[in-house]
Amino acid sequence: MKIFCIGRNYRDHAKELNNPVPKKPLVFMKPPSALLVNNKPFYYPEFTKDLHYELEIVLKISKNGRHVQKEFASGYYDQVALGIDFTARDIQDQCKEKGHPWEIAKGFDNSAALSKFVNISDIANKDAIKFQMKKNGELVQNGNTKDLIFNFDYLIVYLSQFFKLQQGDVIYTGTPAGVGPVKIGDLLEGYLEGDKLLETSIK
Ligand code: ZN
Repeated sequence: MKIFCIGRNYRDHAKELNNPVPKKPLVFMKPPSALLVNNKPFYYPEFTKDLHYELEIVLKISKNGRHVQKEFASGYYDQVALGIDFTARDIQDQCKEKGHPWEIAKGFDNSAALSKFVNISDIANKDAIKFQMKKNGELVQNGNTKDLIFNFDYLIVYLSQFFKLQQGDVIYTGTPAGVGPVKIGDLLEGYLEGDKLLETSIK
């Protein structure tokens, strides 16, 4: 399986990290070994002193496809989940400064927390999915997919020009504003349309 991730896909988040709003999706990937499922705890890695959470809506690819046309794009995903794109912000800043790839800052073990999936057909409006992150009970991110710069269909069309989409691949679609650091002992909880789907404690 492939784990695609989209960076800077919400204007307010691009702004908070002083990044320009992209004209095309900013794509990176994580290896399957990055997955952290079943609400297991996350163990703070030794190589960073500035680990951040980024709560994101995750799409699951439901059938194989290449060069998908816009009018068929919505047929390539049928489920969504919540994910946390854990990021070693200090390492990422060093990579960005040097113009290096981000993998060691973004693709390390357990850096892709993933909740269970829900059917999109059970969600009232797939173009306006509300999702929220609480850190230690306090609301820190409050997102809505209506604010995506590149929406789900656009991402399917775009990614499938470069990569064969395969059933079971997932796309982390980007994070809204409110990203921030975690420390050992913190509890992160993710809500999708008001339902708590994701929970992880930092150990
Ligand atoms: Zn992200």
